[in-house]
Amino acid sequence: MKDTIKELIKYSQLIAAQDLVLGSSGNISLKSGKDMLIKASGLCMSEAQSADFLKVALKNLAYKSKKLKPSCEAKMHAICYAMRPDINCVIHTHPLYATTLVSCAIKPRLISPEFILSIGSELKIVEYVCPGTEKLAEKVGQAVKNSDIVYLKNHGLLAVGKTLKEAYTRTLLAEQMAKMQIIAQLLGKNLKGLSAVQSKKLLAHLQGK
Ligand SMILES: [Zn+2]
Repeated sequence: MKDTIKELIKYSQLIAAQDLVLGSSGNISLKSGKDMLIKASGLCMSEAQSADFLKVALKNLAYKSKKLKPSCEAKMHAICYAMRPDINCVIHTHPLYATTLVSCAIKPRLISPEFILSIGSELKIVEYVCPGTEKLAEKVGQAVKNSDIVYLKNHGLLAVGKTLKEAYTRTLLAEQMAKMQIIAQLLGKNLKGLSAVQSKKLLAHLQGK
């Protein structure tokens, strides 16, 4: 448990240092048996401490703390774990470029092989729904079934993974890819993504086919 909290603190601070969240926005969780350890509501990731994470039951979101409340997106995290038994971590951020891109109704392009290798070619975009609501949790739950990354219009991004490192790396890759796409547009250039055939070939190459 101690090591788990240490990991949550480490990645919370990395997320804040990369400007993927501002103030107390964003949230992070790690599955632990039938529970999850999740950031408390109002906590700034940049100042995360061990007392700032709560154990919340995945089944009914019950928790014991009288001082702290879990993140308002706890339901969204719990649904991700229910839909994806293969994952152990959920990271929700508000990255500048990825959020700008999808909020302008521009579909992210699959630019780098690195992105395809880490995430695949299935990208899901969820239309704007009020943050912290059951409706948003349900929409994200449906989207995350077939994708490790979910873009939230006018809101942010959600990444899942087997480890915090994996979910964090996916967040960085999505943001980097969006940054490349926006820079190319500012330069007046059309930065093409990899085609479906190129993506397929890349994956087949790695699988030794
Ligand atoms: Zn949010």
